[in-house]
Amino acid sequence: MMKIEPFAFAGLPARVIFGSGTLAQTGAEIARLGHKRALVLSTPNQKAEAEALALRLEGLAGGIFAEATMHTPLEVTERALAAFKASGADCVVALGGGSTIGLGKAIATRTGADQVVIPTTYAGSEMTDILGETAHGEKVTRRDPSILPETVIYDVDLTLTLPAKLAVTSGLNAIAHAAEALYARDRNPIITLLASEAIRALANALPAIVRDGGDRTARGTALYGAWLCGASLGGASMALHHKLCHTLGGSFDMPHAETHAILLPHTIGFNAVEVPDLLQPVTSALGGTPGAALFDFAASLGAPTRLQDFGLSESDLDRAAAIAVANPYWNPRPFDQSAIRNLLQAAWEGRRPAL
Ligand code: NAD
Repeated sequence: MMKIEPFAFAGLPARVIFGSGTLAQTGAEIARLGHKRALVLSTPNQKAEAEALALRLEGLAGGIFAEATMHTPLEVTERALAAFKASGADCVVALGGGSTIGLGKAIATRTGADQVVIPTTYAGSEMTDILGETAHGEKVTRRDPSILPETVIYDVDLTLTLPAKLAVTSGLNAIAHAAEALYARDRNPIITLLASEAIRALANALPAIVRDGGDRTARGTALYGAWLCGASLGGASMALHHKLCHTLGGSFDMPHAETHAILLPHTIGFNAVEVPDLLQPVTSALGGTPGAALFDFAASLGAPTRLQDFGLSESDLDRAAAIAVANPYWNPRPFDQSAIRNLLQAAWEGRRPAL
């Protein structure tokens, strides 16, 4: 008989629309929130899609701001706030990945604007009340109810253009949320269900996307898995894996999804020693033991496996380990600086985690 420990569960945030062609519902969702004018946000890369959406929204679009960039730098937010005010908008529509969603959150938390978010990667930010912002070379992360988007529109069609390489790293980024939710200190049976289903969905979908990027069924399954991963991130506290990724992203400017993809087998392998039972959903989705299985899975998808390939030098590892242990997140397995230094060395070299 399974034993249910006492828990708290806050319910799933946001109204979620999921399907194919759901972008067409954006106008109705803006109106449903009682708004009349949206500023459409995107990265420079996705400006054409933002323009097309603004055209489609007709009078509901107050303009577009297509300068979203990774790690939500304050100077970009300030320009976006000026555009928001000048446009007379009363809400934002964020069309894109975590970078664009981050910008929408930064505007929302400062103005009270509602957010309609249309995610086009698997990063999961749309399901969280978390915002990481960079100012003066430092990334500061905070949680606040005003950060949480109101409506999320998942449109599988928009993910068809996500290159397989990005789909893989972004998908592994998503799996990291679910894997850490499984052993979170504040885990609960609902989040465990979501996280287990999420890992299973992405374990099935990512190999199929690598084989055929036009496989709509696999794209749909991956986006569904990514939603559940995002909900896991929003519903449970993260541990060592996310701490190390924030350290490498914030202090060493390492790319977000790739860093998650590389570290995941090492951090989960490290924690699997302490909580193998809690990580059983990883084992049942991928076989073997969690660390080695995640490494083999990532490698089979052609994911990057070595930190050294992204500009991190071996001499950075000491400082990274020191930063990571200076203000650690709770973790199921206790660690010291030398354990983290060893873990980073293995990820830097791209070694397959041992049992
Ligand atoms: P991203 O948003 O920077 O996107 C990467 C690139 O891919 C961009 O140029 C983007 O325009 C392009 N792209 C996105 N979707 C595409 C598509 N469907 N087709 C073609 N190109 C596409 O990358 P990301 O990994 O989604 O987000 C990373 C950022 O999100 C980081 O700043 C990270 O800190 C943040 N994040 C925050 C949270 C949170 O809860 N606060 C969670 C996850 C990530």
